[in-house]
Order: sequence, then structure tokens, then C-alpha cells
Amino acid sequence: MAKLFHYRAINNAFGDPCILIQLSRLKRALLLDLGDIRRISFSEILKISDIFVTHTHIDHFIGFDQVIRAILRRQEPIRIFGPENIIEAVEGKLRGYTWNLVEDYPLKIETYGIKNNKEMSFAVFSASKGFKKEEKGIIGIKNNIILNDSLFKVKATVLSHGIPVIAYSIQEEYHININKVELEKRGLQIGPWLGELKKLVKTHYKFDPHKILKPKNKNLKLTVDTPRGTIPIEEVFPLLIITKGEKISYVMDVAPKEENIKKLINFLRHSDILFCEAYFLHKDIDRALQRNHLTAKIVGEIARKAKVREVKILHISPKYIENPQEVYKEVERSRQGILHQ
Ligand SMILES: [Zn+2]
Ligand SMILES: [Zn+2]
Repeated sequence: MAKLFHYRAINNAFGDPCILIQLSRLKRALLLDLGDIRRISFSEILKISDIFVTHTHIDHFIGFDQVIRAILRRQEPIRIFGPENIIEAVEGKLRGYTWNLVEDYPLKIETYGIKNNKEMSFAVFSASKGFKKEEKGIIGIKNNIILNDSLFKVKATVLSHGIPVIAYSIQEEYHININKVELEKRGLQIGPWLGELKKLVKTHYKFDPHKILKPKNKNLKLTVDTPRGTIPIEEVFPLLIITKGEKISYVMDVAPKEENIKKLINFLRHSDILFCEAYFLHKDIDRALQRNHLTAKIVGEIARKAKVREVKILHISPKYIENPQEVYKEVERSRQGILHQ
């Protein structure tokens, strides 16, 4: 069945961590972390609408300039989410260049600094104003949701890595496929109207535990334009096959402390895929504590307790470059609960 998210890790586990998520059939992509992005093509960078930065250590933020270089003449704004200092970090990067020739460009960089689980500060940098910072105040956060899109939700939680670091999850509430047999029976053809239909349904309907679509607003009367005319939206519901949406989680550079681990087990619950660091083997826990990184064993335990379906390890210390298999094995054995050391 067609999926909404198509993701790929840009570098191997010893390169800078970075995940590109392309949204199926839309000219749109999301980026998790902003490390070395040289392997992302120019045309793919142009599609990026939102970037989620865990923290501004250089291996997670060096790609910023390249993104701005590529999208400088773009109409659509770019949104950048990150820890509280992200606005300052973006401002610092932008101040490293001279901007006297961009006042006709429409680009806006919208920047969101997540302060805690309740609020984030918002600032905009517009090309038309020479990318000077415009502070726009504070935005409230409810249920960890930092971006509520009609197609998916992005949640964030603040953890520690010596400095604040953000973990993200991106979730499609439910996924809609079209029943082609039903479609044909009704003499309807595939076309862009189906994309519009899915968007309308996702914007205005909840999928309740009884697997019934319920309108968010009871008085709502919606119609949809089909190739055979405009009809009430409920009439096309038999065409829809609805399944659970996918949950993608991303965790980098987190201190191996009880408080972080507890928060993560909750936050990552039932993720379909977790992209995670496993910077050290557990035999090097002292080093992990010093450097504020998770060990492979701890990652495995978190994944097991949070009932994560698949774990993909991204960020491993160069110390293990000769034998990364040891790290993967430790994660896997710990995840299966067969590691007692
Ligand atoms: Zn790192
Ligand atoms: Zn770091």
C-alpha cells in the first residue's frame, strides 16, 4: 500500500546524522538534523519545507548554509525547529554573510526555539529585510505538538546532552488508501481529485478507536468535486481504506540519565521506526556519561520498553569504526532482552 513517508539516512553511522523524509506525491520533504547534507541533491533540497534540529553541535547543524544557498530564491518559507538557542544560532549564521542584493527575494526563514514542553519562541528572518531578526513572540505547545499539519503531526520533547537537546516524532494520524474496485464500480477515475479528497478528510475528520470517521465539527457540511460532479463527502467514504498512520522517531545525543530514559520510553511509544544514536558500547559507560551520549544497551532497552517496531542506528563513535557490528549486536540483544551485563 502507498505510504506517506519515504525516508532515507543521508550518511552512514560514522557520518553526520541526517534523515530526509519525502512526502509521497507531494513536492515536499522534511529534514531531521542539518549535518553534512552534500549527498542530498539540489532538487531535493528545494522541496524541504521543515527542518527539525536536535541541537546545534556542528555535526548536526553545519548543513544550514547549503540549504539557504539552494532555496534563496524560493517563494515558500522554510521552517526551522530546534532547541531554545536555535534562533540565536540561525541569526549568527546569517550574520556571517552580506545581504545587500536580496531585498527582492521572497524567502522567509521561520525559526522556532523550543523552550520546554509548553512553549517555543518564534522569530522570522526575511530576505526582503536583509535577514534581520524579527521576534514574533511565544507560541504555546499542547501535548508536545510543535507542528500540526493536515497530513501529519510533529511532536518534540526536551532532553539533556549537557545542553538541551530535542527528540522528535513525526506521525501520520491515519493513512488513507483508495479502494480501486469500489472506484471503478462507481465509474470514477483516478485523478488529482483523490488527493484533494484525502486532504479534506484528514483536515476535517478524526479516526476514532471504533474505526469510524467522525467530523471534528458536527455541523460541518462538506462536498467533494468528483469527475462525475459535486457530491456530499460522506458518499465517497466507502472508497476509503483507512489504516494506522506511521510514526517515525528521531533521537540523537542524549545523556544516559534516568530522567532522559524515562521520558524517551514514553515519547517513543509504538514508533514504527526509531532513528537513534548508539554512540558507545555499554562497556564504555563511563565515557558515555562524560560525553552525554547513550550506549547501545540503553538504546535497546528503551526500544524494548517503548515497543518500537524497528531501530536504525545512525550515530556511532569513530572509536568503533573497525567493528560497528558490535554496536548493532548490542542494541539488538538488549532489545530482545537477552543482554544481562
Ligand atoms: Zn552528535
Ligand atoms: Zn552533540
